[in-house]
Amino acid sequence: MSVLVFVECADGKVKKSALEAAFYGHQVATQLGTSAVAVAIGEVAADELKNLGQYGITKVLHDTETRLKDYVSQAYVKVVAAAVEKENATVIVLSNTNIGSGIGARLAARLQASFATNVVALPELAGNSLKVKKSVFSGKAFADEVLTAPTKIIAVKKNAIEVNTVGTHEAEVESFTASLTDADFTGAPRETIRATGDVLLTEADVVVSGGRGMRGPENWHLIEDLAKALGAATACSKPVADVGWRPHHEHVGQTGITISPNLYIAVGISGAIQHLAGVNSSKVIVVINKDPEAPFFKAADYGIVGDIFEVVPKLIEAAKALEK
Ligand code: FAD
Repeated sequence: MSVLVFVECADGKVKKSALEAAFYGHQVATQLGTSAVAVAIGEVAADELKNLGQYGITKVLHDTETRLKDYVSQAYVKVVAAAVEKENATVIVLSNTNIGSGIGARLAARLQASFATNVVALPELAGNSLKVKKSVFSGKAFADEVLTAPTKIIAVKKNAIEVNTVGTHEAEVESFTASLTDADFTGAPRETIRATGDVLLTEADVVVSGGRGMRGPENWHLIEDLAKALGAATACSKPVADVGWRPHHEHVGQTGITISPNLYIAVGISGAIQHLAGVNSSKVIVVINKDPEAPFFKAADYGIVGDIFEVVPKLIEAAKALEK
């Protein structure tokens, strides 16, 4: 018996959210008196995988089949299912990303497993069941869910788990191949379009986001300059993307991307409930708005009541001074 962690990778690297899943998997394995093994798919540098040892992973099964270079749901699920079988895993841990939760749902159907999403804490053992705490209603409440099926799948919410290293040893990396057919690749993407910007929004530690208060795309250099000075990704509210000031892949919220950076700076955004749904699990929220009654201030850790066009240039200057 072991705990299996699906380790999500991008651009040859293990994603930050995957390190959280790895450490969580290690802790669950310790609770169960077993070990945590990981499965990684596609091109990833060997050192990145060996480094997972520092987060408590003993071994990494690595499937490098060339057709798996880009994410293909059916094929990835088959590889993870084969790894579950090989390791006789009863608990599978993955990140609650689009890819992780997609794999989790298909895997649950395939293995008749219990599946909990948005998990925010270590499980409590209750006989053969696991009780997990999960975030629900766009982060407005928590719920306990009891996973009773023999196989249990846990998708860990990003930024909810504190990650520590557990030593300096390297994980053993083992080549792994699942038998895949052409039918497993019918959903393969025809083309992958990379998001623009230096920092990937979903992985960013710091995000600077603009709303309708920016008045127009001609003022976006303020958001970009502040983001650049802070090493941050840029984002926007929905109406900003709807009118074409910014591309849709930057739109955060209920109908856009959900993010959990360490720092979210909202510039000229009112803080409607649908916007908050995508950003309220950020560790620290800073709001800049000229209206002291703007609802976003209620969710903010720090608020600046002031005009964007006065406040943001000063912040850029201060951030640049810190860089030096
Ligand atoms: P506004 O509400 O117009 O706010 C602009 C803010 O800028 C104001 O608070 C104003 O005081 C401030 N401001 C103006 N000028 C300045 C200045 N010079 N200096 C400082 N502050 C200034 N929205 C999302 O963002 N994401 C979603 O995913 C999303 N999904 C939705 C789904 C549904 C079903 C619905 C109905 C709506 C959704 N919305 C979503 C829209 C949401 O309800 C709000 O309308 C939207 O978030 C408002 O965007 P905003 O804050 O940029 O604009």
